[in-house]
Amino acid sequence: MIALKELKFWFICGSQHLYGAEALGKVAENARTVVDGLSKDGRLVLPIEFAGVGTTTDEIADMCRRASADPTCGGVILWMHTFSPAKMWIRGLTQLTKPVLHLHTQLNADLPWDSIDMDYMNLHQAAHGDREAGFMHSRLRLGRKVVVGHWSEADVQERIDSWMRAARAWHDWQGARFCRFGDNMRDVAVTEGDKVGAEMAFGFAVDGWGVGDLVDRMASIAEADVEALVAEYEALYDLVPALKAGGEKRASLLDAARQELGLEAFLTEGGYTGFTHTFQDLHGLNQLPGLAPQRLMAKGFGFAGEGDWKTPALVRAMKVMGHGLTGATSFMEDYTYDIKPGAEKVLGAHMLEVCPSIAVDKPQMEIHPLGIGGKADPVRLVFNAQKGDALNACFVDLGNRFRLIVNKVKAVDHPDLPNLPVARAVWECAPDFKTACSAWILAGGAHHTAYSYDVTSEMLDDFATIAGMELALIDEQTETMRFKQDLRMNEVYWHFAKGFRA
Ligand code: MN
Repeated sequence: MIALKELKFWFICGSQHLYGAEALGKVAENARTVVDGLSKDGRLVLPIEFAGVGTTTDEIADMCRRASADPTCGGVILWMHTFSPAKMWIRGLTQLTKPVLHLHTQLNADLPWDSIDMDYMNLHQAAHGDREAGFMHSRLRLGRKVVVGHWSEADVQERIDSWMRAARAWHDWQGARFCRFGDNMRDVAVTEGDKVGAEMAFGFAVDGWGVGDLVDRMASIAEADVEALVAEYEALYDLVPALKAGGEKRASLLDAARQELGLEAFLTEGGYTGFTHTFQDLHGLNQLPGLAPQRLMAKGFGFAGEGDWKTPALVRAMKVMGHGLTGATSFMEDYTYDIKPGAEKVLGAHMLEVCPSIAVDKPQMEIHPLGIGGKADPVRLVFNAQKGDALNACFVDLGNRFRLIVNKVKAVDHPDLPNLPVARAVWECAPDFKTACSAWILAGGAHHTAYSYDVTSEMLDDFATIAGMELALIDEQTETMRFKQDLRMNEVYWHFAKGFRA
């Protein structure tokens, strides 16, 4: 995975001086036990460090300021081991700029029924200490995740892991740059949007470049590097005869390899973690880049076609969330349907650019004509996608805010597609085709998505919470009337929550 930064999470324990020094010593010791316990089970993708016990307004504000200023701090986990009067937290939390997880747990799972006394009760009182904290968080309108349960439970640790992954993706967006060659595909609406608003809301920038800048960079790639990359292709994929040495389309393969090397160099040198281009602006390129986006997505770059800059940002974020899992996330487009009543399926693909991380087996490297773009035949990897639970996600610009839309799907088996010259996935939607598609369309969901087997709806919910972005989730529980009402309510909520700033 390209360009992932070091990150850790701070564990801050809340208390106060009412109980005396001995009790505070125990609080710190117990907090360390919880941190060590969370760390040793190996379910958390990133490390946690115990940052200290907050007992006064000044101490808490100091910890929050230091967490905010630390570029390696991905977020803070708060736990009130004892009662920590929450007015002490106002100054700190209003200065905190990192994602927050409120862990509602207790040192011991079991209550010592035979021996419990007031000292024990006073020490182990997260049951009401965390309620005091929760009130203050709500009073401050603090976006946060609340995780409840004993810290040793797998479910509790998995929910923390989900939030860490979302926080890591959020961190990756801060200061990120996405590269857009050319502009938006003419007349297309959903791929447009407010790039200034996005930078204010999400922290990433979108830079425009002429495709000629890429063509120049490609020209300076050494022939030997092109030959070496083609040798890598030969080792990794099954090439059709026309692309093999001596084949009639071999020159196109060399050209595709030069595109990949030029693009990767251009993106890496510019500090970009994702990109888009448009087939309407390919001056100086011999073929629409197909193989290069496929291969670069597999390395962790975000990508989408047609000048769509939002989907590369989301593909990148979801690649980061899924890092260390299978990595199976791709740019995708809902393309066409098998619309038999009760057994409806969606065929997802794109003109060329589906990430081989979702392939079920070894991709075939092929070359076919492509009417769109008016260029020479492009090289591409063709494969079927894995089966299993997956999801599609997109985010759209509604003018006064961005909305993240997620649909849980199940990728299924399908007949061979001998005449379809692109990589593809076939899935069924939750809760069912008609409900899912009507909800997606009512929510204004795009035809471009980030499609993933790794990323869960919980990670995306956590991500939306951290980003302060509306989430419209379409899953097994979705009912059309309720969903429509939620969208109407969200119009009101986000209008007041965000005002006219977004
Ligand atoms: Mn498209």
